[in-house]
Amino acid sequence: MNLILLGPPGAGKGTQAKRLEEAHGLKQLSTGDMLRAAVAAGTEIGKQAKAFMDAGKLVPDAVVIGAVSERIAQPDCAKGVIFDGFPRTVAQAEALDAMLAGRGQSLDAVIQLKVDDSILVERVKKRAEETLAQGGTVRPDDTPETLKTRLEVYHRDTAPLIAYYERTGKLKGVDGMASMDEVSRQIEAVLEPFLKKRGSILKWLTGR
Ligand code: AMP
Repeated sequence: MNLILLGPPGAGKGTQAKRLEEAHGLKQLSTGDMLRAAVAAGTEIGKQAKAFMDAGKLVPDAVVIGAVSERIAQPDCAKGVIFDGFPRTVAQAEALDAMLAGRGQSLDAVIQLKVDDSILVERVKKRAEETLAQGGTVRPDDTPETLKTRLEVYHRDTAPLIAYYERTGKLKGVDGMASMDEVSRQIEAVLEPFLKKRGSILKWLTGR
């Protein structure tokens, strides 16, 4: 099963993706995490991405698409992927369709986490405070100024994906402003038919 979690920064995509990963054995593919790891490791991709990330801007499509295309070919992605933070542009969405088709796969659902901008600012502030309290390092792009840019970028470049996926009939909206557990419940409800189908295919394959 291949899913996209779509939503602005701070919408809870990462939290929900981790929960789905644990519950259903799918692989979370967070392009933000991949890029941060590349920056920390000082790889070529990291060098290309750093300035864009620090400024809250999107890393060029070609860089991100290349990295995702390599990543989904790894064996741990074989059972399906939860895309978290990808695609973020229509060009990335088109590339993803082509990538999956090339592997004989397709998207099952796109889950849109709907959250108001005013709440996101508070959430990201809280995330930074909690990280500090735990002795961690705050992401350089979790400052109020950079978040403003990230939200502008979301509305300009990523929000058009809502219409893109609405046209495919795969877009499912959930209330991202509800509690974490309630959001998880809503996501599970959306996924139930796909999970049932996946369960019966697995049963058929294994004869159990
Ligand atoms: P995130 O952790 O998803 O909030 O991503 C952090 C930053 O990584 C973003 O602000 C972008 O600079 C970069 N990034 C992550 N995913 C993408 C993507 N799909 N396309 C372009 N840039 C991305």
